[in-house]
Amino acid sequence: MRLILSSLILLIPTLLLAAKAPPLPDYPLKQIGPHSYLIEGPLARPTEENQGFMNNPGFVITQAGVVIIDPGGSVQIGEMVLRQVAKKTDQPIIAVFNTHIHGDHWLGNQAIREAYPSAALYGHSKMLERVKLGDGESWRKSMLSMTNQATAGTMVIGPDHALEHADVITLGGITFHALFVAEAHSDTDLMIDIPTEDLLFLGDNVMSQRFGQMTHGTFKGNIAAIDLALTSSTKNFVPGHGPVGGREMVKSYQTYLSTLRSKVTELFDEGLSDFEMKPQIVEALADYTAWSGFDDEIGKHINRAYLEVEKEQF
Ligand SMILES: [Zn+2]
Repeated sequence: MRLILSSLILLIPTLLLAAKAPPLPDYPLKQIGPHSYLIEGPLARPTEENQGFMNNPGFVITQAGVVIIDPGGSVQIGEMVLRQVAKKTDQPIIAVFNTHIHGDHWLGNQAIREAYPSAALYGHSKMLERVKLGDGESWRKSMLSMTNQATAGTMVIGPDHALEHADVITLGGITFHALFVAEAHSDTDLMIDIPTEDLLFLGDNVMSQRFGQMTHGTFKGNIAAIDLALTSSTKNFVPGHGPVGGREMVKSYQTYLSTLRSKVTELFDEGLSDFEMKPQIVEALADYTAWSGFDDEIGKHINRAYLEVEKEQF
């Protein structure tokens, strides 16, 4: 018995080590504002090769410490973000903003929490609710399965500070403005405008060169959220996925959403089903067919817009 017990005790560290997947390589860091940096993630879906890394983690170095926006979809990605921060400053992390409930943006919170237990984790109040309801756990599992366990070791650490639309927070002399429209890309989307950095983090309300799911959102609300972002005088925008750009990048995604929605409305009125309307819609969206994920998402986007238009008509 003693032998079995001591063998088990010897095994425990090995099991714990085996439970955590290997680290992520460092990705290039880009300066995008006077005190702001970004790591532009790959455009693909989460895979074993990219270890689930596909979002755009950013950070701002304030006088009081570092503020991270969207530390990625796993503990490994969060740790990579921390290594990148350490290349620019030895200041601690004081806060994290999570743009929305989709796990590829925030499951990296764990790495921040482990290294800086007192860092404040901000998210929209609706996101805090969703994590409590178990959405974080579903995301943790789906990241594990999509990456063939490359995110193993990741735990769900949700935001603990709730924000609402128009909340303003000043951290280390830099002011962060929260913008929110219900039912946009999801029902939890927080956008962060940082006027002194001339930067606005859009979350997945805008994507560039890559499409993602619209399963938890509405086209109408997403278009409205982009209108709200464009009321800012900020000139540089960070999409949830894809390269940073100016107002034209933001408008381009809005044009995609509005073209798709108006075309679906038109063909719905003509009595076409969602799959019958697909060829005409793909033709109307010729400017976007080369974006990553177009073929995977277009049918689902049309279906989503179809259900939205149908619901409005009854
Ligand atoms: Zn998303």
